[in-house]
Amino acid sequence: MSSEASFDPAPLKHRSEEFPEGFPEKFSQGSPEDTSRGSQAGLTEQQQIIRQKICQGHAQNRVQALPPPGNAPFGYKRGKDRYAIDRANAPIVKEFFEHFLLYGSLRGAVRYIAQKFNKAIAVSTGKHWLTNPTYRGDLAYQSVDPPQIIRDTHKAIISRDEAAQVDRLLRRNRSLPPRSASAERSLAGLVYCATCQGKMTVASVGDRGKRQKLKNPKQKDRVKSYLYLRCQTCPQPQKCRGLNYDRVLNQVIDKICNELPKAVSGQGVSQLGNIKAQIESVILAKQAMMEQIPPLVTSGILDTETADLRLYKIRTEIADLETKLSQLPPINLVAIAQTISIPQFWLDLSESERRFYFREFIRAIGVDASQKREEDWNLQLIFVF
Ligand SMILES: [Zn+2]
Repeated sequence: MSSEASFDPAPLKHRSEEFPEGFPEKFSQGSPEDTSRGSQAGLTEQQQIIRQKICQGHAQNRVQALPPPGNAPFGYKRGKDRYAIDRANAPIVKEFFEHFLLYGSLRGAVRYIAQKFNKAIAVSTGKHWLTNPTYRGDLAYQSVDPPQIIRDTHKAIISRDEAAQVDRLLRRNRSLPPRSASAERSLAGLVYCATCQGKMTVASVGDRGKRQKLKNPKQKDRVKSYLYLRCQTCPQPQKCRGLNYDRVLNQVIDKICNELPKAVSGQGVSQLGNIKAQIESVILAKQAMMEQIPPLVTSGILDTETADLRLYKIRTEIADLETKLSQLPPINLVAIAQTISIPQFWLDLSESERRFYFREFIRAIGVDASQKREEDWNLQLIFVF
């Protein structure tokens, strides 16, 4: 397994201009006035007619699920009536996602494809990739507000499960302090002090002065560095003491191996399957409704405008349900829990891999180290489910 440390940390040349490809910069910027439903003030009659024709064309594209105008996103090419996988570039996108899923780091994934494929993209482009519906097999129409998504219009580069995992990671990273999400240490941003409720941060202690005095880098490396967890903003007159990072980590691993099987067999998780099935059946019912609409247009019962509006509403409802689904933890949690409830699993991982798995299951770790003896510390894991 390659580690992030081996990547060239040199800043990448920003080449976002290489990647407009019909998206995504122009997405999400459209004000309501820019859309077909917006104000048409200031346009001549002829401009309005042209505009209407264009909008009708776009609406027709949406109903027929044809790709929006412009170039295909990187990794695809324009086929006759749908996007087709671009065999030369799709693997780059695929590996970008795999790297992100493994390490949870956007910048890491951007660096990775730059190094492996010599494919330099801006971090902002990588961020758009992560949420781009095209890679999930869906089409997004951005000219309407809010943008419409039509599912399963072409071959996906990432699976639904992977997409759901990407969404969970993005959400989780968002709720963490900005720097700790990509910090190296697996416990960074997760641990809080049970005594003062303060966030505990990872710090390297005891070696700095010594290292700075040494000029020879080899000698510097020989100075052992100790990692500590400490409450940075402890309000108590006698501040909470720093805790040895490795000892806390070992206790967290013991605790997760002990508690995860119980936690996933709990009621919350056993009901998870039911909740998912319910949402999925509602989605299926709505998809069936959508299929009934085009014949109604053909037979003249509905006009195109009404049909379009109805389709649009149903799609929005489906998209909301999809979001709900993606926020639920993975369904195969019980199977996963068995594999990862063995200390050796955790000990074999690198810190960045461990960081990824911790965040998949743990929301926070409370450490009560008010007792002097390490065996008397009390850890509380708060699982994400
Ligand atoms: Zn404290």
